[in-house]
Amino acid sequence: MREQPTNVVDTMKQKQAEAASRDSKSFFIKMTDGEEIRIRPVVTLDGAAYVYRHNKYVEGDMSAGVNALCAEDVNQPCGHCAAYKSGDKDLKPYEAFVLPVMLYDVSNDGDLVNAAPKFLELTPASPILGSLIKQTDVLAKRSLKLTDVDVIIKQEPRKSKQSRKSFSIAYDQAGPAVLADGRQVKSGVPSKEIIVQRTAQAFPPLVATSAPGSAANAAQHDAFAAETSAQPVFDNPGRQLKPAPTNNHTPTSESEAELVASF
Ligand SMILES: [Zn+2]
Repeated sequence: MREQPTNVVDTMKQKQAEAASRDSKSFFIKMTDGEEIRIRPVVTLDGAAYVYRHNKYVEGDMSAGVNALCAEDVNQPCGHCAAYKSGDKDLKPYEAFVLPVMLYDVSNDGDLVNAAPKFLELTPASPILGSLIKQTDVLAKRSLKLTDVDVIIKQEPRKSKQSRKSFSIAYDQAGPAVLADGRQVKSGVPSKEIIVQRTAQAFPPLVATSAPGSAANAAQHDAFAAETSAQPVFDNPGRQLKPAPTNNHTPTSESEAELVASF
């Protein structure tokens, strides 16, 4: 028999949280070399959330790697920022915009058969972000918005792992998003709070304990939050989230002619 945990319920909770985190990770679009995707932005660029992220890759040791939202984005002191300031340069926080989109399922014949809500992470240097900014201006001249067009993104195959990723980006079909069977694709518009919340689920932040640089688990985090006023260690007033605009576009009913998705 497998060695049994002394506290089964604690183990269940931990495993369940890990599974939930793995599931929500699939909320983020991850492209591979040679892959082509077709998406429809559900908000214009001003609806994207602005966050900081930490990403550390350790060759051959997945568990030593870090892929996290900066804890300051959930108003907590960040353990990874603390580790970066104590010398781990790989943990340097980087900026990212998180854009909610619908990702189409495309059949082998090229038909749009389904669509699902996803997030696209865009760093400032991303050629995709550059293209979306440019396209926003192009569309404005035709009184159109980014949400009126499908975006087809192909990640070009790289010659080596070290070479920079490159993409070809095309825009298609000005008008409502429609599947091959005639269903119109509609989606609720997620608030920035929801986008950040989902990002935190997919890439759990590390909340710093009072000893900078040390790891904190959820229990320590709760205790810490309870016994201190939880002031961020590094003040960064530049990236407070604006309150979410109220949203009148959330569909309230789903007819047969619509595919309604929520984030
Ligand atoms: Zn951080």
